[in-house]
Amino acid sequence: MKSFRKELTFQTPSRRAFVNITPQIESALLAARVQEGLCLVNAMHITASVFINDNESGLHADFETWLEKLAPEKPHNQYRHNGAEDNADAHLKRTLMGREVVVAITEGKLDFGPWEQIFYGEFDGRRTKRVLVKIIGE
Ligand code: ZN
Repeated sequence: MKSFRKELTFQTPSRRAFVNITPQIESALLAARVQEGLCLVNAMHITASVFINDNESGLHADFETWLEKLAPEKPHNQYRHNGAEDNADAHLKRTLMGREVVVAITEGKLDFGPWEQIFYGEFDGRRTKRVLVKIIGE
C-alpha cells in the first residue's frame, strides 16, 4: 500500500474566508500516484475547517450569515474562552463546519458526487495555518 502525506499552508487576509482547495488536493493526488484508495483532508488548527459543498458564492454568503447567527463574533466578552484570545466564535464555527473530509479515490480521481468541492474554512485568519492531506491506497 502506498502512503502519501502533504501539508498545505494558508494565510487569509481576512478573519473569515472560504477557499476552494480542490485543485491543490487533485495535485496532491497526482503526486501520490494512487489509483484506488482514500484521501483524508483535515484542518490542523481548531479554528479552521475543511468541508465539502457547492462552489457557489451565494451559498458561501449564506454560511457566513448562518454561522454569525449561531456563534456571533461580537461582543467578544459574551464568551468565557475570550480574554487573552478573542476567537471563541472561531472555535464554535469550526465545530459546526467540521474538521475533515474523506474522499474515495477511484481510477486515480477524487470520486465526488455532483457539485462537490473541497473547501478550507478559516474563522480566525491573518496568520499561517496548515491543512493535512493524507492519501493511502494502491
Ligand atoms: Zn482560542
